[in-house]
Amino acid sequence: MSKKINTQEQTNFDIAVIGGGIVGLASAYKIQMRYPGIRIGVFEKEKQLAVHQTGRNSGVIHSGLYYKSGSYKAKNCAKGRKELVEFAAENNIACKICGKIIVATEEAELDTLEEVFQNGRENQIEGLEKIGPEQISEIEPFSRGIAGIYVPCTGIIDFKEVAKKLAELLESKSQQSSVLTCCEVTRIDKHDGVTKVTTSRGNFATKCLVNCAGLQCDRIAKMDGINSLMKIIPFRGDYYELTEKALHKVRNLIYPVPDPIFPFLGVHFTRMIDGVVECGPNAVFSFKREGYSKTAFSIKDSWDSLTFSGTWRLFLRHWRYGLNEYRRAFFKGQFIKQLQRLIPSLRVEDIKPSRAGVRAQALWPKGELIDDFKIEKGINSIHVLNAPSPAATASLAIGETVSQIAAEHFNL
Ligand SMILES: Cc1cc2nc3c(=O)[nH]c(=O)nc-3n(C[C@H](O)[C@H](O)[C@H](O)COP(=O)(O)OP(=O)(O)OC[C@H]3O[C@@H](n4cnc5c(N)ncnc54)[C@H](O)[C@@H]3O)c2cc1C
Repeated sequence: MSKKINTQEQTNFDIAVIGGGIVGLASAYKIQMRYPGIRIGVFEKEKQLAVHQTGRNSGVIHSGLYYKSGSYKAKNCAKGRKELVEFAAENNIACKICGKIIVATEEAELDTLEEVFQNGRENQIEGLEKIGPEQISEIEPFSRGIAGIYVPCTGIIDFKEVAKKLAELLESKSQQSSVLTCCEVTRIDKHDGVTKVTTSRGNFATKCLVNCAGLQCDRIAKMDGINSLMKIIPFRGDYYELTEKALHKVRNLIYPVPDPIFPFLGVHFTRMIDGVVECGPNAVFSFKREGYSKTAFSIKDSWDSLTFSGTWRLFLRHWRYGLNEYRRAFFKGQFIKQLQRLIPSLRVEDIKPSRAGVRAQALWPKGELIDDFKIEKGINSIHVLNAPSPAATASLAIGETVSQIAAEHFNL
């Protein structure tokens, strides 16, 4: 980032935030706004900010209708969404509230569709409407379904732009706060109330620590002596995109009815803020936490995942779903079949391979996916241990929560 820090000498911060994704930056920003005099260092291992989950997601500002009423996801998604839209307007970040439809294509999905609708009502999502086949084709002329939900407050944004702006505002708010890239945290030691953070750019001393390391957050927690039973298991999501000729087949956002067993929303169509229409993502177990190709492999990451009992229990329970997702990952014909459920006229030649993202999904040893956001406290530290979708939408609300916890736990 812009500020020059002499990393040969030990620099002191009041709070070190590990992770320059949207959650780390929103947390740092919110703490800085609450305590302008505090010195914050954000440590990001990559050359640029937001290159992992934040920079590789669907770019959807979620409404909050799916999440269990009363959960942190439900509360923070709706609150964070409203704040995000205001933040984008104040800071000239392109953002569009375009609305989305959820489309049921067979009778078996109708009960779940109704549950999603009632859940949305309970979560007080604005303007939800049940729609029938005609309204589906009015809103999205190429989509077909037997029933659906119209969600007018869903939107699109580039979360990378939000992350960059948060970093810029953080540094401009305080001369003593810095966002350091190429700064990988490799070790954490604690002595007499001071935390020594060893990084690829030298050593730093800090009073307190906030871990927002996304796909690596369980490892950072372990470095800090947190003895959590959960583990991060990476799930890759591959995207296709519509070719220029087929772009007219999608106006905005078209989603299937979600499978209630999984936290993933199913392959959907998303018109991104730059006009590209993406189709995806699927959800396949990844042999590398930050691996974005179909054959990406890391011995360390695979060993970690495959020696964890939770991974095998999850595989055994959901082997059929997993196998189908793998088939879809490797065979375009399988992927298109899934998309044709929402747009029957879509052809193989209408889509071309696009990018991929990897989700950090926290898992318990018994194989249960941790559905809700999860934040734990350590000695002079706070660890964000599960921040899957909709954490980008909810980032400012999560940041606010982290800053509240910091205020009490760090005695600020
Ligand atoms: C395919 C996909 C689609 C999604 N779609 C949506 C969506 O449409 N809407 C939505 O709201 N959410 C979506 N999400 C979820 C959302 O992207 C994430 O919840 C959010 O980006 C999490 O942000 P983060 O800051 O926790 O993680 P990240 O963005 O992954 O940031 C963590 C950062 O920590 C850094 N780091 C890790 N280890 C170290 C270390 N040792 N030292 C220094 N730095 C370190 C990493 O380099 C990284 O930059 C999606 C996610 C994926 C993967």
